[in-house]
Amino acid sequence: MRHIIEKANEIREKYGIDDLELLASKLGAEVVELPLGRIIKEVYIKDEGVIVIDPNLHPYKKRHLIAHGLAHHLFHRNMKVNYFLDERDDRFNYWKQRRQEKEAEVFAAYLLIPEDKLNEKLREEWVKESPDPIPELAEEFRDCQLKAVHDVIHLSDVFGL
Ligand SMILES: [Zn+2]
Repeated sequence: MRHIIEKANEIREKYGIDDLELLASKLGAEVVELPLGRIIKEVYIKDEGVIVIDPNLHPYKKRHLIAHGLAHHLFHRNMKVNYFLDERDDRFNYWKQRRQEKEAEVFAAYLLIPEDKLNEKLREEWVKESPDPIPELAEEFRDCQLKAVHDVIHLSDVFGL
């Protein structure tokens, strides 16, 4: 997973993360907004290099899904179409896709939430005192994907960062 994190840091330092659609275009991907309905969360179309997101999502959620889709673009281009995990798929695809989804989540988390900045935040008094600092931290990093923030905190522990 370390190479995923390093790539996220490298891209953020090189291009910045203020405008993720612009960032995507610099990496050869295009972000398209199309209503996806309730079941499918995100789509990455490999042949077109297109990340499809639902226009009705919260702006922070969009940021998260663009970052997530970028990971598929950068690391998983051998997949045909990526969509919300479907457990009816055969076992092999199920496990393969599960790993790729996890990689995409780690990439998104580290792209949007720089670990040094997060660690700085975690040392602040209010974080230590708050029973649930996650919503405020999510706001701070413009990423409402709370799971991602959790993951980063967890991974920070795992890697001793
Ligand atoms: Zn995905």
